[in-house]
Amino acid sequence: MVNGMINRYNSYRTYLKNKFGSPVLKIPVNGGFSCPNRDGTKSSSGCTFCDNRSFSPVALCEDEVTNQVTGVIERSGKRFRHFIPYLQPFSNTYGSVEKLRSVYEPLLKIPGVCGLAIGTRPDCLSDDIYRYLEEISQRTFLSVELGLQSGDNEVLSLCNRSHTIEDFIDATIKLAALGIETVAHCIIGLPGETEEKMVATARLCASLPLHGVKIHQLMIIKGTALETAYQQGEVAVFTLEEYTGRLGNFLTYLNPKQLIHRLMADSTPENGLIAPLWSAQKTQSLQFINSFMEKHGIVQGSRFLDENRSRQVLS
Ligand code: SF4
Repeated sequence: MVNGMINRYNSYRTYLKNKFGSPVLKIPVNGGFSCPNRDGTKSSSGCTFCDNRSFSPVALCEDEVTNQVTGVIERSGKRFRHFIPYLQPFSNTYGSVEKLRSVYEPLLKIPGVCGLAIGTRPDCLSDDIYRYLEEISQRTFLSVELGLQSGDNEVLSLCNRSHTIEDFIDATIKLAALGIETVAHCIIGLPGETEEKMVATARLCASLPLHGVKIHQLMIIKGTALETAYQQGEVAVFTLEEYTGRLGNFLTYLNPKQLIHRLMADSTPENGLIAPLWSAQKTQSLQFINSFMEKHGIVQGSRFLDENRSRQVLS
């Protein structure tokens, strides 16, 4: 509780601050990786919603990885003492262990860097890579962010993810068994996702050894397959009110211990955002989300706890 206000969700930002003793700046980095869903290995067209230029500020960056991080550290002045490079665009474990080492190790040597965050797909992890990630996690803080997007295979197929929820479950269990902090990326509002399927996604996340969940709204980005469907009226996006209602519901089914990395994503028309335009007004939209949660008494994990209590009573 802060200033008499209930903490409505378990904030990752606060967790990092408590863990390292002061605020931590996560710095997006382009590690120069590709993606099997784009290079023809699994598909050439990619996920129907994907345009990394909109999702990551560094998607087009070709600088050395260390320069990307030191540049941000210099510009941040003395506001932060701890930094986590975040390999964000594309699939950052898609390569040999040697390739991964050549990108990760220089980042870990930068003064002030206190760990590493790696975004990837659940089907881009071999035994050698698991071993290397375990080795990293034994010497520094490591967070692996896996794209799940939906806990429903039909929805995954509709958005051409080219992996299944079983791939995700397998990767999550293996990473957790190695003691690695694992995070699920989930999108609310994908084509074919009903409210029931969204709840099933939250329940799946709650049932797995996931440390955190990163949630965002479906965004329509210029040049993607979804843009065509959206322009033809085949796909709709949520208003901020609709999204907030779904998000609140989603949060109640998560485990209250799971850390919430993000409540919404943001982009701008300059970066290809077509809809919903409230995605470009992050501060106002987050204020709306927080007020909504306050007004409706939404608390992360409330239904998860209710369901667990009922199960205990019945057993
Ligand atoms: S969202 Fe990720 S997995 Fe899908 S095409 Fe884009 S980079 Fe690849």
